[in-house]
Amino acid sequence: MNSSFYDIIIVGAGASGLICALECARAGKKVLILERQPIAGRKILVSGNGRCNFTNRFVSPSKYYPSNSPLIKNTLSSFPFQKCVDYFSSLGILYVEEEQGRFFPFTGKATAITDAFKAALAETSVEIAYNQEVTRIQHASFFTVYTKATTFKAKKLVLACGSCAYPQVSGTTLGYTLAQQLGHSIISPIPSLSGWTLKENFSRLSGIRAKVKLTFQEHQTEGEIIFTNYGINGPAALNMTPILTRLLSKQALTVTINFLAQVPHVQAFLAERFRQFPFRKPKEFFAGIVHESIANLLIDFKGLRKNKPLQEQNPSTLKNAFETLEHWPITVTGLRPWNEAMVAAGGVNTREINYNTCESLLCPGLFITGELLDIDAISGGYNLHFAWASGFSAAQELVKEK
Ligand SMILES: Cc1cc2nc3c(=O)[nH]c(=O)nc-3n(C[C@H](O)[C@H](O)[C@H](O)COP(=O)(O)OP(=O)(O)OC[C@H]3O[C@@H](n4cnc5c(N)ncnc54)[C@H](O)[C@@H]3O)c2cc1C
Repeated sequence: MNSSFYDIIIVGAGASGLICALECARAGKKVLILERQPIAGRKILVSGNGRCNFTNRFVSPSKYYPSNSPLIKNTLSSFPFQKCVDYFSSLGILYVEEEQGRFFPFTGKATAITDAFKAALAETSVEIAYNQEVTRIQHASFFTVYTKATTFKAKKLVLACGSCAYPQVSGTTLGYTLAQQLGHSIISPIPSLSGWTLKENFSRLSGIRAKVKLTFQEHQTEGEIIFTNYGINGPAALNMTPILTRLLSKQALTVTINFLAQVPHVQAFLAERFRQFPFRKPKEFFAGIVHESIANLLIDFKGLRKNKPLQEQNPSTLKNAFETLEHWPITVTGLRPWNEAMVAAGGVNTREINYNTCESLLCPGLFITGELLDIDAISGGYNLHFAWASGFSAAQELVKEK
């Protein structure tokens, strides 16, 4: 059995592991990354539809990360938005800003990020061992790390294993198991950033996209939704999942859809349109303001008479149809499973982690970074930003050690 001794072993060559390894190696540490996949950064490569939305101009702790852990605030303040774009610039990556403050590599390809890390790491003495799945870790005065074939030893250890979301790429529960072996507790992971299954049957709208506002209690998201044969998907729905996922295990939830989100005063607008076009039949009346299939569904759902002009409809039925267009209730019964969930809500309990350094409070010398922690965000570059920031923050502490 081989045995090698390192300053730092990092388990996982994903977003947080790569940045942590680079910073530690640049500071002269002897670093080994163990990665169970044959390549680095598999999730980075599929992120943002293969374009990698790597950060966001509006990164801020309170708004986009539903868990209230102080770890978020402290970690993001050590690696705020501007530091992130400067860092990627210094790696040689050109970037572009798109709508809602989203940043992507200028090449339009996530490989720009992974290639830049590989090049920067190759300029250091970091060792990366691929196809090395860590199955067990023991901690005494140092860490003993077991893969199927080999044993490695290190003074310090970073668990950067990511979450169990998207197992078809690299998601795995192994990180939780390893953290538990070292004394940590796990908040049960649940899928987040995935489509919604609905009680109502919207299959006749399958494939249709609409720009809407979604409201759940005091929470609102605006943007596109896509109707599917199981329910809905799309950015506006995804961005509400971090809120819903934590409540869905207990009950189905009612969300309302405003199909005229871009109209400031929907009921006044519809009343005015009614004054303009009282003689139009419902289908013609709604043409041009919502998709034809949505209008047809509304007409059937609310029982408007198809062949009668609006002025001959039952006034309360018409009022109800107008209100439904602004507050269409849907019942969310669940979220799509792990192979469709982009992130996991849940993970290593952040109360067991030093908020300033990502070091374990239970196992000295152990650092836990990225999505393995009980931290998740809405979509828009915020999840990757946290991964970079936590890997960077851990490295700041790791390089201090003699
Ligand atoms: C389809 C999809 C699209 C996404 N798009 C975006 C986006 O555009 N913007 C955004 O901000 N976020 C996005 N995300 C989320 C983002 O990719 C993750 O939050 C981020 O990669 C987490 O970084 P990490 O370092 O924690 O883990 P990861 O990047 O997942 O890396 C963990 C690594 O650890 C390795 N590993 C795990 N266990 C072991 C073990 N026992 N031994 C050895 N190696 C191990 C894994 O193979 C993996 O390479 C997306 C996710 C998915 C699935």
